[in-house]
Amino acid sequence: MKKKYMAEPFKIKSVEPLQMLDRKGREQAIENAGYNTFLIKSEEVYIDLLTDSGTNAMSDKQWAGIMVGDEAYAGSRNWYHLEETVQELFGFKHLVPTHQGRGAENLLSRILVKPGTYIPGNMYFTTTRAHQEMNGGTFVDVIIDEAHEPDRDDIIFKGNVDLNKFEALIKKVGADKIPYICVGVTVNLAGGQPVSMANLREVNALAKNHGIRVMFDATRCVENAFFIKDREKGYENKSIKEIIHEMFSYADGCTMSGKKDCIVNIGGFLAMNDEELFQKAKSIVVVFEGMPSYGGMAGRDMEAMAIGLREAMDYNYIKHRVEQVAYLGEQLSEAGVPIVKPVGGHAVFLDAQAFLPHLTQDEFPAQALAAEIYVDSGVRTMERGIVSAGRDKEGKNHYPKLELVRLTIPRRVYTYAHLDYVAESIINVYKQRDTVKGLKWVYEPPVLRFFTGRFEPIKK
Ligand SMILES: *Cc1c(COP(=O)(O)O)cnc(C)c1O
Repeated sequence: MKKKYMAEPFKIKSVEPLQMLDRKGREQAIENAGYNTFLIKSEEVYIDLLTDSGTNAMSDKQWAGIMVGDEAYAGSRNWYHLEETVQELFGFKHLVPTHQGRGAENLLSRILVKPGTYIPGNMYFTTTRAHQEMNGGTFVDVIIDEAHEPDRDDIIFKGNVDLNKFEALIKKVGADKIPYICVGVTVNLAGGQPVSMANLREVNALAKNHGIRVMFDATRCVENAFFIKDREKGYENKSIKEIIHEMFSYADGCTMSGKKDCIVNIGGFLAMNDEELFQKAKSIVVVFEGMPSYGGMAGRDMEAMAIGLREAMDYNYIKHRVEQVAYLGEQLSEAGVPIVKPVGGHAVFLDAQAFLPHLTQDEFPAQALAAEIYVDSGVRTMERGIVSAGRDKEGKNHYPKLELVRLTIPRRVYTYAHLDYVAESIINVYKQRDTVKGLKWVYEPPVLRFFTGRFEPIKK
């Protein structure tokens, strides 16, 4: 039987009823929110594609795990369960739990990043780079050039490290000034693009030649493992678990946000083999997070994370997740809606400049498009363009090359019917795109303006 798509590999035991405002209600809601989807109340949203961070649906087994939370201050049994799960799946000797991914980034950066050092990475991630810079380091982008080109859909591992760029940096600043290379698997800001196993192997070999550590940002590693199985020769018959194990054999440690591929709502960890790094991390985790046996998580949260990680190794789970994202991308692409290609592991990105060519970038096309989609259907998306890019030190606007609207798919939360609804709405907005008006500032916050900024439509 040939299938249109892979149906959900789960059945639904508990439901969260959704409210659907009518169009008038949505117009009022977006006006109240200053045309900023971050300021809409969650109850006013029908389908929420703002982020896939911490928005996962847990399984019945994870909820059962919540009930066996051991909330002892020290030595909780859930901690031992989480520790042995990560040791087994990732192959690292040591684990330091944190409240979420950035907690692990903080510990790692404080220990290894010193003023005057350089940290190469395959494109930056916001919190990761912020921690490196706060400790006096300089982030250097060593991703392949094609990762920055939205219409290059012929590159199947768009997250790969450019080894020439990495080697050039080593020659320029010296290996002793590079505490580690941070490799994101997948690369969030490139649109969830994967790194190949061959590239991970080569990065490791080059780094080892120069005595440089390799640290993964493991946040989306299961999505990356799926792409390797799906696209890289020699991995077709390997299990996700085997692929994960090999991937991490090319790293000395990792930071992890549990809010993504561990299929939980909160949590994270730092993992490593190095004894000295472990001792240092254990001595500062108590200051920033909590005891090394809970690190800011409740016992029940550690239990849910241990169970979630194991569930994430299930091929059908991850196949369904990544294919859902691809399905939404295909529906839009077939209708002529401009999107970034290839579609990555967690989100579809609309190219707002191509979508709304009658607006200049100063009229905030992505912001306006996200607001319009909400009004059309109650679907919440996020601007990733000039508003998110902010201003430089002189106060001038950054003009990012990409002006995007992100549709992020939470794990196990929505069905294909929901995705069809999303696609229909966006195609509908696309048909009436000439009527979408640009926006102007009503209130512009000095930092991270996309979170709380307010706008109104330009009347023309
Ligand atoms: C979300 C994310 C982080 C940060 O994790 P938090 O749990 O939100 O602190 C780091 N790296 C990547 C790639 C992410 O997607």
